[in-house]
Amino acid sequence: MPQTMTSADLRTRNQVRLLRAVHDADAPLTRADAARRLGIGRNTAGALVAELERARLLHEVPAETSGRGRPTTLLVPHPDGPLAFAVDFREDAWTLASVALGGAITELEGGEHDRTPRAFADIRAAIERHASGRLAVVGFATSGPIRDGRRLHISHLAWEDVELDDLIGADWPTTAVDNDARLAGLAEARRGALRGMGTAMHFHIDFDIGGTLLLGGDAQRGAHNIAGEFGHMPLTGSALRCMCGVLGCWSLDVGANALMRRFGGEPGYGTGRELAQEVLRRAEDGDPEAGAAVDANAAALGRGLGALANALDPEAISLSGLGVDLIRLRREVIEDHCAEGLMAFRRDEPPRIVSGTVGAAGPLTGAAEIAWDAILTEAWVRARR
Ligand SMILES: [Zn+2]
Repeated sequence: MPQTMTSADLRTRNQVRLLRAVHDADAPLTRADAARRLGIGRNTAGALVAELERARLLHEVPAETSGRGRPTTLLVPHPDGPLAFAVDFREDAWTLASVALGGAITELEGGEHDRTPRAFADIRAAIERHASGRLAVVGFATSGPIRDGRRLHISHLAWEDVELDDLIGADWPTTAVDNDARLAGLAEARRGALRGMGTAMHFHIDFDIGGTLLLGGDAQRGAHNIAGEFGHMPLTGSALRCMCGVLGCWSLDVGANALMRRFGGEPGYGTGRELAQEVLRRAEDGDPEAGAAVDANAAALGRGLGALANALDPEAISLSGLGVDLIRLRREVIEDHCAEGLMAFRRDEPPRIVSGTVGAAGPLTGAAEIAWDAILTEAWVRARR
């Protein structure tokens, strides 16, 4: 039997849509903008806003008028409204930030850690230090796949099947966790270079390469939340076996580990970024050996991107981390090898390869997005009123 929707249900649904519109906008919306985006009248919008103001979710401030038309107001987060915390947990360090509705990020604290799950005790203590009654949700970015959204696999730290619930303990606010590369892509799709695109891809290159397919502004997650391990596909035909168990992973040829391997570093343990940076610097200064290593990295990157573009047909591909350096130093190498990997009929219109604009803040920004996604729901708004 079809469910009937009461007028209260409809009002709640529109309030969530309104909060979502305010959150997603790249600049504060006027009440009239919001009404237009939602396809509702100005009076209805006014009533929704008044109720959200009483719930301390939205606040109206006078907009600067350009002299024409009726004076209007801008919709901004309520000054006493809920906050999301976002944590970027990397192999060697973490960062905690507070993020308001609309995505404004305030960094709160950060530190190094001992590479064991004990690190989460420090993060938890930091969250408790900064939390107030306004903290509503916490989003985490971590490296490695996160099976079913709760079980962490961080191969560089030898974490196997570490349960998020054991790390954070009981009595936490709502938590959301996802992989850092996927979150960096989500950040580009929502706030950066891939904004407004229907189909796009993002790759974050650090020790190795990780990425995500972005569809309509959201990341593809898969049946068990472990989709997108593009770095663990044998796209470039390496003869080495990867730590993940696969023979010839793309990740063996792209990223800091691949650079380190050529210069006697010990790849695979989440250490040695400095050596990779040094290789890039030397390549930039014209050192031929370093230059050849960077060429090989850029060529492997391009080959893999071409292969993936054949399968997934992205409008654009953005890169972060070392990918930005590779674009700066070797754009032509990347594009030539991408074209080599593309089916001939696609070569006239290859996917655009661009640097991400959210940059190093990508995982933190994406963690904030999944945190807000977790609470911008009808049940949560109903409970706030
Ligand atoms: Zn692998």
